[in-house]
Amino acid sequence: MTVEYEVIAVRYGTLVARRSALYLHWDAYGEPDGDERLDYFFYVLRHAGDTIVLDTGFHPDAGERRGRTCLRHPRDALADLGIDRDGVSRVIVSHLHYDHIGNLDLFPRARVYVPERELSFWTSDIARHPQFSRHVEPATISQLIALERQNRVDRYDGTRELMPGIRGITVAGHSPGQQVFVVETAGEPLVLASDAVHFYEELEHDRPFAIVVNLLEMYRAYEMLRELRQELGAVVVPGHDPLVTERFEGLSGTPPGLAFRLA
Ligand SMILES: [Zn+2]
Repeated sequence: MTVEYEVIAVRYGTLVARRSALYLHWDAYGEPDGDERLDYFFYVLRHAGDTIVLDTGFHPDAGERRGRTCLRHPRDALADLGIDRDGVSRVIVSHLHYDHIGNLDLFPRARVYVPERELSFWTSDIARHPQFSRHVEPATISQLIALERQNRVDRYDGTRELMPGIRGITVAGHSPGQQVFVVETAGEPLVLASDAVHFYEELEHDRPFAIVVNLLEMYRAYEMLRELRQELGAVVVPGHDPLVTERFEGLSGTPPGLAFRLA
């Protein structure tokens, strides 16, 4: 049986920053600097009464400490969408940065799928260097470890069908175990790139994002995503681009600007 997901992007936070702060070595391009909006999303995937949440956003406190605006607490955003959090069967995590795994306690019944390389890296000594550690919340990593002790965590890695209709691919680059996801829908396959691609511009103009652990892997991820687009006709959705709110339709019956139908 083919599994086709309905996919909703939930925009719960936002930030305005200089392009020179968002792109790696902006001076390489010889273009003027300027302001750029960066939005924060998580995703809801639904099929036949089953609800999966992909990434869980930042906790408002962790976001505000970093100067991000929380537009809607993810808990309230889910309520706006009419989602019963107790009914969320699985949470899939793309990487362990603070803005992707906050709010795990909102999903008391979910199994949590975590990239093996992410969990290994973020619990290792080297992750304590400030250039890495500033991107995570230690309390959230501890929460994942606690969940694993309760046998609620599935580690995954490489290219793997996590569940029917959802394939995870390890691309790394931005973070040591960064994942992208190919999701089957009623239309073209959807690729949720998460932070492998923050902005469309990274793919269109080959311009890496500023936060990177391995630049070669990041470039290879761009290459692979362009291939997926060409070979599968896949629709690639960047993880933080405000253009998502223009290129996809708002979800009817929800507050304007909050939820967008990707498929
Ligand atoms: Zn990230």
